Amino acid sequence: MAAGGGSKNPKVPGPVKILINFFLKTSRDDVNSRGKIFLPKLEEYVMGFDLYGMGTRKNEVDYSDLTIGEYFRENVWGWRPLWQYLCEIAKDVLSEEDMKLGSSNSGHIITKEKAIALADILKIVIADGLHLEYIRKREEELERLPLEECPHCEGAGIRNDTYVQGECNGCDGKGERKQFATHYHLDPDSIVNFEAFARNSNGFEID
Ligand SMILES: [Zn+2]
Repeated sequence: MAAGGGSKNPKVPGPVKILINFFLKTSRDDVNSRGKIFLPKLEEYVMGFDLYGMGTRKNEVDYSDLTIGEYFRENVWGWRPLWQYLCEIAKDVLSEEDMKLGSSNSGHIITKEKAIALADILKIVIADGLHLEYIRKREEELERLPLEECPHCEGAGIRNDTYVQGECNGCDGKGERKQFATHYHLDPDSIVNFEAFARNSNGFEID
């Protein structure tokens, strides 16, 4: 957990707004609004969260040479559970408005004071391994969720439409699949990296 100024954070990815696992992002809405197309909506395809430390000029950030506190990125599947976790452990730090706007790409700003307070809470949490315990419980709960009927084949396991004839590619022919919530993943490294980012950020903007 290097939090010293000037050192580099190799975990920070570049600003490429494309998610590798985009095939996971179909939802009932896709099916309902666009027919049986096994593709994500464009917003979901490109959506991620970019956090910029205050004082950095976000249009001029050198992504190949980042300093801790300058930039933090998560895709939508990683940011939502991370922010949710932060909201749970930092109820006294974050306002209702912070909590709400933190999960949108609205450019909401978390002040330096709050960023440090978040980092201080995380430091204790990480030192005690509480984040790992939380992740373990979270994954157990997700694992216990019942499977849902596959919306692409309506549970039949077989499609016969314009796009697919034969085994359904939304459920590998099983007729049911894991619930949408299981696509959100909370990564322990992300929590550790966020602690360092928040501490060195001078406050940050969530885009
Ligand atoms: Zn199916």
